[in-house]
This record gives sequence, C-alpha cells and structure tokens, in this order.
Amino acid sequence: MAIFCSNEIKQFFELMQKPIRTSEELSVNVRLAITCLEGSLEIGKVLLELSAPKTKLRVQTQNFTRILYERADVNVANPITHTFQTGDGGQVVITLYSVAGHIWSEEELDILKIISNTIFHAFKMENMNTLLDQAMSKDLSVDISNINGFMQVVMEKFSRGLLEEYIGVYFNIHNFKYVNNVLPYVKADEVMAMYVNTVKNQVENDEVIARLGGDNFVVLIHSENIEKFFSFIRNVKLIYKDGNEEKKFRFGATIGAAKLNDIQRPGDVMIRISIAYQVARQQESADVIFYRDEYYRDVMKQKEIIAGFHRGLEQQEFVVHYQPKIMCKERVVYGGEALVRWNVNNQLVYPMEFIPILERDGSICKLDYFVLGKSCELLAKCKAEGIPLPHISVNFSRRHMENPYLVQEIVEIIDKYNVPHEYIEIELTESEDFRDYIVMATLIDELKAEGISTSIDDFGTGYSSLNMLKMTSIDILKIDKSFIPFDSEDSQKDKACIMFESIARLAGELGVMVVAEGVETEQQYEYLTGMGCDIIQGYYFDKPLPEEAFLEKVKMAKY
Ligand code: C2E
Ligand code: MG
Ligand code: MG
Repeated sequence: MAIFCSNEIKQFFELMQKPIRTSEELSVNVRLAITCLEGSLEIGKVLLELSAPKTKLRVQTQNFTRILYERADVNVANPITHTFQTGDGGQVVITLYSVAGHIWSEEELDILKIISNTIFHAFKMENMNTLLDQAMSKDLSVDISNINGFMQVVMEKFSRGLLEEYIGVYFNIHNFKYVNNVLPYVKADEVMAMYVNTVKNQVENDEVIARLGGDNFVVLIHSENIEKFFSFIRNVKLIYKDGNEEKKFRFGATIGAAKLNDIQRPGDVMIRISIAYQVARQQESADVIFYRDEYYRDVMKQKEIIAGFHRGLEQQEFVVHYQPKIMCKERVVYGGEALVRWNVNNQLVYPMEFIPILERDGSICKLDYFVLGKSCELLAKCKAEGIPLPHISVNFSRRHMENPYLVQEIVEIIDKYNVPHEYIEIELTESEDFRDYIVMATLIDELKAEGISTSIDDFGTGYSSLNMLKMTSIDILKIDKSFIPFDSEDSQKDKACIMFESIARLAGELGVMVVAEGVETEQQYEYLTGMGCDIIQGYYFDKPLPEEAFLEKVKMAKY
C-alpha cells in the first residue's frame, strides 16, 4: 500500500497523462515516467509489441517491437507480460523486466499491471493519431492518397529540390457516368476501385497518385515515365464480373499537365495542373494540354469577368441593342433580336467575350432575365407611345433548362410590364444531349400554351438539328449564317444553296417560319426571298442598333 501512495507513483501518472501524438513522444514520456520509479519499483526494461491486421484505416498489417525503457543492469530472466486488445483486431503485449537482483512482490506485481495498462492507453492514443493522420491523407474508398497526401509528397519533393524531375498531371475519367448508369451505385464503386488499382500499378514508388473526389485524379510522375502513363490512362480497359455476366469497360481521360522546373511554392503545382485541366476540358481536347502562363492569365481574366458581372449588372453597365428583322416580301420590320453589350468605361464589350464565360459559370441566366426585362420595357414604351409593337426575340442560354420554374419566371417578367405575350420570342440553341430534347420539347409546349413563341437559333450548327425539328413543336427556325449562300463563285456556293433550299422547303412543309441570319448583300436578299424565306436579319438591312435608333426603324413604313 505504501508504494501505491508514494510520490513517485503520482509523478508517474502525471507524466503519462500528457497528450501523445507520435511514437517519439510516447518513448520520451514512458522513459521519464519510469525514471521517476527508480529506487521504488526497480523496472529494468519495458518492451511493447504490436501485431495488428490491415483494416480500412490501417494501410497494411503492422508487427513491431519497441523498447520503451532499458537500464544497463536489467535482469533478462523471468519477465512479466500483460496482453491487451486494440479493438480493431490488433494485440499489444507489454513485457516488463526487473533490475538485476530484484524480485517483485505480489503488491508490486499489482502495480505493474496498472503501469502496463497506463502505457497501453498512451500507446492507443499515439496509434489512433497515426491512423487518423494516414486517414486524412488517404481516399479511404479506393485506398490511395487524397489531396492532403498528394500535397505532402509535393512539399517533400519541393523541399529536397526534386520537383523538376517530375510532371504534374490532373485528369478526369471520360464517361465514368456511363458505369453509374448501367450498374448500381455499390457495383460502380467496385469498378472505380478496379480502375484505381489498375492505374496505381503504373505509378512507381517515388511517384504519387491521389483522388480528388469523384472521377478526378492528380498524379506526380517522373518525366521519363510520362508518355507511357498518358497512353495508359487514355485507354484503360477493364472487365468487371457482375455475377455470371462479364461487363467490359473502356475509359479515356481529359488530361492537363505541367512541367515543374520553375515552381516557386508547392501550392503552384495544384494551380498549374488544375488550370491545364480546365483548358483541356473547355477545349474538349483529346490531346494532353500542358500548362502555359497565358492560360493562367486567361483564367484570371475569366475570374475577373465573373466577379465584374454582378457589379456591372447592379451599376447598369449592360445595355441592350436590337437588330431589326425584316419581312422579306413586304420589306417592313417584323421585330428585332435583343443582343446584349457590356459598357465598360465607355467601351462596348461584345457578347462573345463574356457570354461563354458566364455560361460556364451559370450567371448567364441572370443576364438573360435582365435582357428580357429590358425588351419588355421597350414594348411597354411602344404601347404607351402608340408605336406599333415589334416582335422581340431574346436569347436564352441552355443553362436555363435546369430550372423547373423557367416558364413561370418568364411569364412573371412579361406580365410585370403588362406586355402581350405574343410579342416575345425565346431563342434557344440546339443541344448535343438527346435527353435535353425531352426537356426542350416540354418547355416549348409550355411557352406555346402561354402564347410565347420559340425559335431555334443557329439552326444547322448543332449535332442533330433534324431531331430537334422532329421532337419539338418549334415555331421559328433561324438558319445560321454558315448556311446562307454567299456571292462569290466559290465551289461551296452550290452546296450551300442545296442545303438552304432543303431546309427552307422542309420548314415550309412543317409550317415553321424561316429566318435567315447574317444576310449581308443584295444578291443574298434576292436569292433568299426567292427561296421562300420569311424574314431576314443581317447587316444588309441593319447592324444591332441602340434602342432609340431601333424604334426609328420600327416607325418606318417600309425599308
Ligand atoms: P446570335 O443569337 O446568333 O446573334 C446573331 C449574331 O450575329 C449577333 O452577334 C449579330 O450582331 C451578328 N450578326 C447579325 N447580322 C450579321 C451579319 O450580317 N453578318 C455578320 N457577320 N454577323 C451578323 P453578337 O451581338 O455579337 O452576339 C453574338 C452571340 O452572343 C449571339 O449570337 C448570341 O448567341 C449571344 N448573345 C447575345 N446576346 C445574348 C443574350 O442576351 N443572352 C444570351 N444567352 N446570349 C446572347
Ligand atoms: Mg440569337
Ligand atoms: Mg444566331
């Protein structure tokens, strides 16, 4: 009992209560704590043995023995052992040896049991921290590093000046969506694990592959292995056994890459490879895109545009111009297309510079509503001033298709200005995705039910224009400039004529109105009118005009 209450024991427990994160901290703590017991418990040596299986958290089986404390005068005979379970299938054995010439009493043996137990709990804390550290740098679902693990390797190579020997890669698996479509979620995960295993085998020990989430990966590969790696991930073939059935998959990849020879900070690696990847994705490039400084500038410019957009909209920097649409035979104004411009420091910026960026970001939807509002304001003004109402068409990005309240929101805006619905036309573009047609067909019908007409813009430039005609009850086709026959004696002129005539005839038979865009010359006008085209829009008559100039044209009796 005397020993239990001794100051040495109290000190031992105090020292062992310190938080422990690493194996070094555990060794130091145990050494200090047991040193306090010198002269009372006479411990000569403490050994800790771990044997633990591989688990979700533990990368591989672990078996080791550590000496936590040892004196020169240890008695190696007759040690006592205490065995503990780690709770995840592992076992820890703590072996205590006495100092030479000392034999532990029953009371001392009881205290030693408590001492072993205390050491075991301290070890559990260390072990848990190690496993958590591993878990935080790993993607546990597929057993490779995650972004933290990747950055640890990058930082380590950076600090040793080795980064320049490597190429950084950011890639996304092509068509993994297909696997999710044909297999249940759990099985698709198994295919992902197979994919990861296959690709992991291409990565050598001093290289690293990490999963960012979903089907996005980053890799650090030795320069001399890079071509082999690229050709591998562009064509990964897998056979998945689904019960008795074998499913074959083939995956490509969208790849961005960067040389790392002049990296100033480890964080630049991620910046470079993600920018290269973004460019590869935007260009839908089949080739690997290597990082260039101008890509960085482009991405910064895109960020600036997106950031400036919301401010610009608030500060009324966006203006709407209207390009007259003329009825061919009558030569009178049918209406106009609303085309947005961005007035930045009194310089008009044209849509091509910002619309594709806003489209990617989704902000385009807000802009389209703004243009629709402005167009309605113009119609309300005509109504108030007794000017004949022009038909105004407004471009609506495909991004709106994701919005189930689109029609309701369009109607709300038109009704706010108290404008008759039939003077508004929504211009839509074709989609490459077959499923979008179903959404589009519903949208067109719903708009029609509200008295609002729809047109297909740039008809003919999409992937399956005829499908669009077949599946929807569209009112107007706007035939793209590239199908308008030009005047030169060019060999392509005949083909353009044949295509235009066929489209116009088809549209006529389906009762769809035809608008020809980009008409620039008298001959084109004559030809198109002869072909039965209903309406013409183009520089031949007018460029897009500011509101007042457009209204002057609307008031004109004849062109
Ligand atoms: P779009 O809808 O096909 O509009 C026609 C484009 O062709 C306009 O370019 C117009 O100025 C130009 N154009 C008209 N006549 C001629 C001609 O005779 N010759 C030539 N070479 N070009 C002609 P703009 O205004 O630069 O607009 C470009 C595109 O930006 C539009 O193509 C449309 O897709 C998009 N856009 C413009 N405003 C908006 C908007 O408010 N919302 C959305 N979502 N897109 C818009
Ligand atoms: Mg248009
Ligand atoms: Mg167009």
